[in-house]
Amino acid sequence: MPRIEKIAVVGAGLSGAVIGRELAKAGHEVDVFETRNHIAGNCHTERDAATGVMVHVYGPHIFHTDDKDVWDYVNVFQNFLPYKNRVKTTSSGQVYSLPINLHTINQFFGKVFRPDEARAFIDSCSDKSISDPKTFEDQALRFVGKDLYDAFFKGYTQKQWGCSPAELPASILKRLPVRFNYDDNYFFHKYQGMPEHGYTEMIGRILDHTNITVHLETRFDSGLRKSFDHIFYSGPLDGYFEYEYGRLGYRTLDFERFTYEGDYQGCAVMNYGDVAVPHTRVTEHKHFSPWEDHAGSVCYREFSRACGPDDIPYYPIRLIKEKQQLGQYVRRALQEASVTFVGRLGTYRYLDMDVTIREALDTARLYLSTRPGETPMPAFLHPPLQMP
Ligand SMILES: Cc1cc2nc3c(=O)[nH]c(=O)nc-3n(C[C@H](O)[C@H](O)[C@H](O)COP(=O)(O)OP(=O)(O)OC[C@H]3O[C@@H](n4cnc5c(N)ncnc54)[C@H](O)[C@@H]3O)c2cc1C
Repeated sequence: MPRIEKIAVVGAGLSGAVIGRELAKAGHEVDVFETRNHIAGNCHTERDAATGVMVHVYGPHIFHTDDKDVWDYVNVFQNFLPYKNRVKTTSSGQVYSLPINLHTINQFFGKVFRPDEARAFIDSCSDKSISDPKTFEDQALRFVGKDLYDAFFKGYTQKQWGCSPAELPASILKRLPVRFNYDDNYFFHKYQGMPEHGYTEMIGRILDHTNITVHLETRFDSGLRKSFDHIFYSGPLDGYFEYEYGRLGYRTLDFERFTYEGDYQGCAVMNYGDVAVPHTRVTEHKHFSPWEDHAGSVCYREFSRACGPDDIPYYPIRLIKEKQQLGQYVRRALQEASVTFVGRLGTYRYLDMDVTIREALDTARLYLSTRPGETPMPAFLHPPLQMP
């Protein structure tokens, strides 16, 4: 066993918990710092005392992956029960199924198309005058045409990102977002499910190791850096440098919580595509645990807006201005010794949970295989930008 090192892990979300666990298992002394009064980061779940419903406190989290190692890993710490995400959307007074599938197309256009007929029809709707789509709007119009774009993409995207889809890059919509069958399972992944007792219990078990000490309500600041051999930092990249080059742009979410006696909407997620409706979606949390039975219900109306200094950063914006700023922070981070930036905030990327775990495992393994005096641990395993 090599020398026991003192490791600081900043953030008790999935990134911090998995890295902390792997290093603790190898014998290192791990201190996990978390500003919030709970572990699990944005995956935090909590049972509502009045109804007994398991609430996804920072918005709905559905586990889906093709990565067998990651699936096996999470199943060690929690029993996963089957859950398929089936999303509905309300648009101009009608309820449709998402992602756009054969049912959506037939309902929307009042048709009874079979798959090949629907494919030919959508092709005939697509705007072929757009040969080189530069924006999200161009790309959507080229794929599905104006009617489906207006009903299912335009308003929702505008509310989600706070700008016209004509100002967003085409890269957001990479593939044709339509299915020509009746499959309404939102994700394609082989393994999908929900942790039986919630994500917080799962992450609590990951952190439950004799070599790990968790410090809740403790912000990790520059004064603590010298006390550790290495730091794994899953807090905001710009925050580590005291926002020296300004704040990286994020969208934040507001959740308007309400309760209901019975079943409010009959499904877990109902999107609202119309711009006239200010919220993007309503989530009804008891439907994320379909194996449970609760008379009462807890719902969130979700609103998206620009993130201010005191808000929780949710989605990195990553447009031209943010990429320039990000480049400055990445260059700065590459000069730091003994710190590795990880996770969604540390690398300023949107990361699903399975990718977060995969990257955390890879980070810990690389660290454990790095010998003193040889190549130092990099600032990023997954650079937030391709640097020139
Ligand atoms: C609305 C929403 C829905 C999502 N839904 C899904 C989904 O359905 N499926 C899916 O796979 N993924 C989903 N995700 C992604 C998922 O939330 C992330 O993969 C996961 O949270 C990343 O974990 P993390 O540890 O990197 O970051 P976080 O969970 O953000 O954890 C970072 C932690 O660091 C703490 N921290 C920050 N700075 C400091 C500091 N200086 N000192 C101490 N602590 C600090 C923060 O308080 C936070 O708890 C969703 C994300 C969002 C925003």
